[in-house]
Amino acid sequence: MNRVPLPVVQETPEPVECTECGKCCTYVGVEIDAPDRAKDASDILWYLYHPNVYIYVDGNEDWSVHFESRCDNLGDDLLCRIYEQRPHICRGFDNRTCEVNDHEHTALTMHTPAEFLDWLRVNRKKVYKKIQKRYLPPDLQPTPAEPPRERKKQKKGKKGRMRKS
Ligand code: SF4
Ligand code: SF4
Repeated sequence: MNRVPLPVVQETPEPVECTECGKCCTYVGVEIDAPDRAKDASDILWYLYHPNVYIYVDGNEDWSVHFESRCDNLGDDLLCRIYEQRPHICRGFDNRTCEVNDHEHTALTMHTPAEFLDWLRVNRKKVYKKIQKRYLPPDLQPTPAEPPRERKKQKKGKKGRMRKS
């Protein structure tokens, strides 16, 4: 009798509870423009030149800059000390859709200029070229490509001839 493979049922993991997490109370996030223009890409480089600052792109491809900084109202027990009076923005966080529990979308986090430039080189080629010309310091410039092997051989031959004469 032929065996028919049964479909694999993917179990959704239990959501992380806010009382075990507290992550969204440890940074300030500000929405920014996606790097579709050289100016915006240059702004992102500027953010990433600063320690403890990183770029976050959520599942809806909304870009934001995050400044790592723990809220003074977050207790050691990960509870908000001013929960009933917490700011409007804090009330918008929902642990069913937040960055920790959103398993459907793949968010992107970039901590260094190099990580961002790798992304830009692949996803916004024209913007990368403009940035490379005007805004990249030497240590962030791509390493020059190796010359093709054929040309290397030719050079060797010429050198050899010169030594003989
Ligand atoms: S909303 Fe999400 S990120 Fe924020 S504390 Fe709750 S589980 Fe953590
Ligand atoms: S006020 Fe409360 S909920 Fe808002 S960031 Fe601070 S600790 Fe978190």
